[in-house]
Amino acid sequence: MTLNIAIDGPSGAGKSTIAKLIAKNMGITYLDTGAMYRGLAYFALKNGVEPNDEAKVLPLLDTVSMDIEYNENGQKVIVNGEDVTPFIREHHISMAASTISKIHAVRLKLADLQRQIAKKTDCVLDGRDIGSFVLPNANVKIYMDASAEVRAIRRKGDLEGKGDFSHTYEEILEDIKARDYQDMNRDFAPLKVADGATVIDTSYMTIDEVASAVINLCKDL
Ligand code: C5P
Repeated sequence: MTLNIAIDGPSGAGKSTIAKLIAKNMGITYLDTGAMYRGLAYFALKNGVEPNDEAKVLPLLDTVSMDIEYNENGQKVIVNGEDVTPFIREHHISMAASTISKIHAVRLKLADLQRQIAKKTDCVLDGRDIGSFVLPNANVKIYMDASAEVRAIRRKGDLEGKGDFSHTYEEILEDIKARDYQDMNRDFAPLKVADGATVIDTSYMTIDEVASAVINLCKDL
């Protein structure tokens, strides 16, 4: 049996920062499942398919292959042989990923890939439905949350850190709220606190404080 730690929660709650730290600390792999939805959304847009156009996304799904690879910079998402990693963090891809992720067949395909990886690799996975749907028997399940306002400030800092100053705080806040709504209200595998998950509200916690809380939850593994 492999070791699987599930960290779910809305965007900007601090999941990826903490998942990376925990993975390093425990010497296991970090699987960013959001990057998989982003990769698929990017691929659809590149092929002229709108992420909400289920009739066109479905045939695309049959022809698409996705591989997750790792190098010294971390995780790479390879879609039909192309490394799409450099493109999937752009602001417009966030909402596109959320929209494509509502499609049932998309979720089944990516959840299947995530389960295959988790079955053969000790890993920390972050996402929206890992503890509730993908791996309900994960060894540790965490739901990381923070207020939308705090998350918008963090997201703005992330984008600016990458040289993108083109979005106001208000725009980012609206985008976060719209994405939360869409992720929490989709029919299949919505974002919610999984049974047995520990909720950590990171709004007023430092990264170190969150990391120690999570390490504490993992200490008996
Ligand atoms: O985590 P990240 O912001 O990169 O995820 C982008 C979008 O992908 C989310 O807003 C969500 O709609 C979707 N997603 C998902 N299930 C996951 C991971 C991400 O639906 N396990």
